[in-house]
Amino acid sequence: MTVPYWVAGQPATGEDRVEVRTPHDNGLAGVTTNASAQDVERAVAAAHAVAGEFAVLPAHARAAALDHVSRRLAERADEVAALITAESGKPAKWARVEASRAVSVFRWAAEEARRFSGELQRLDTDPAASGRLALVRRAPRGPVLGIAPFNFPLNLVAHKVAPALAVGAPIVVKPAPATPLVALLLGGLLAETDLPAGSWSVLPVPNEVAGALVEDPRLPVVSFTGSGPVGYSIQERAPRKHVVLELGGNAAAVVCPDWTDLGFAASRIATFAMYQGGQSCISVQRVYAHREVYPALERAVVARVRELGVGDPADPATDVGPLINEAAARRVQEWVDEAVAAGARVLTGGHRDGTAFEPTVLADVPPGCRVVDEEVFGPVVVLEPVDSTEEAFDRVNASRFGLQAGVFTHDVRLAFRASARLAVGGVVVGDVPSFRADQMPYGGVKESGTGREGVRAAMEDLTEQRVLVLTGL
Ligand code: NAD
Repeated sequence: MTVPYWVAGQPATGEDRVEVRTPHDNGLAGVTTNASAQDVERAVAAAHAVAGEFAVLPAHARAAALDHVSRRLAERADEVAALITAESGKPAKWARVEASRAVSVFRWAAEEARRFSGELQRLDTDPAASGRLALVRRAPRGPVLGIAPFNFPLNLVAHKVAPALAVGAPIVVKPAPATPLVALLLGGLLAETDLPAGSWSVLPVPNEVAGALVEDPRLPVVSFTGSGPVGYSIQERAPRKHVVLELGGNAAAVVCPDWTDLGFAASRIATFAMYQGGQSCISVQRVYAHREVYPALERAVVARVRELGVGDPADPATDVGPLINEAAARRVQEWVDEAVAAGARVLTGGHRDGTAFEPTVLADVPPGCRVVDEEVFGPVVVLEPVDSTEEAFDRVNASRFGLQAGVFTHDVRLAFRASARLAVGGVVVGDVPSFRADQMPYGGVKESGTGREGVRAAMEDLTEQRVLVLTGL
């Protein structure tokens, strides 16, 4: 069966057939079609046309629709998780986590839709404004073009769709070419709601078509999650638009000398450097451990990494599956080989097999190697001893990225210092940088992006303040 795409809330099928293949064994995960040019135009015209009506749709109606999607995702969680595994190669255990996170994103958006309003501001602090009061409302900036990456094919689509619908902004969402199926399944659940026709579309389209949409003035907001080069090219193409960029990183964990449970730190580092093949924007890529704890930590990380289950992502015991395609695995091999040629030691792993790359731990990586300086987006972690926590913080900051950092310490003063010192969007104390709760503000500084997601933060980003001044009070 050819899975339909969704144009202004209605199913549609085009001529340009897309076979979605599972990265593990190239089996067929499903078939869909790219949206036709006419359907793309219909979706954008409908989003533009419905924007005024949708902005004033009562909060209870928006919340009810979001609650419905949340419930239905929960009911179909097993099927949803299996589809995520099939199209992205994400291990089943992590696909189930992703499915349940998307349930929460829609539920949280429903709750926020009920309370998101504005504030009353007194103006009479200035004599010239005596007897005046301002009502500050938040109004949608306008229809949104959402562009999502492959690595969380459901939850990052949910992070585009749910906040937009919660604030009354129509959205046209474009899933990643490798992983459209679960986004299209989500479209089927949105179609069960009473949301106005035109308020949402899910369109698989080639990148050239998405690029043209970026420039379409009827979609004044572009919310992009993906790689830096594509994100910055979008910003250049749409200089007058409100552009949200959620980009990549090379997240670091710092292990301080006061941290007592090195087994826990090693286990978290191993798991979150390798989970879903390192294809997370906040997977642990760099570890800076104080010399006092470094040797024990190194041994423990290597031991934990060797215990990880590697292989078929559909197997419930698998921790680390394939990368999204062979080109990605070849690139990781090239970067690891570059580091080894420069003098790095491979503590475990280091080899590719088809689309899979062995979970790999490196040490003694000289400066300038891409496994440290760039985003690996593969199952590779680099360990490095440091002489002090301050040196570790400097090493964390010596990156052009800044998404999140993890700091293993029990010292609350050090926690505050880390938050002040580290140039990242978020610091996680007592754990790896890979922790994300979907309601917290999430996003990067430097080349990791601009703007914040996390349901409430995204709702603020997708809206602008409108002031109503009342006189004669
Ligand atoms: P990508 O940049 O290759 O693609 C992302 C999306 O952009 C896809 O839907 C793609 O089809 C689309 N796209 C590509 N070229 C385009 C163009 N010219 N115009 C419009 N759209 C275009 O990224 P990816 O490989 O799918 O995802 C991996 C990247 O995403 C990594 O860098 C990762 O760190 C980042 N990421 C960031 C976050 C975050 O929240 N900060 C979360 C997940 C992933």
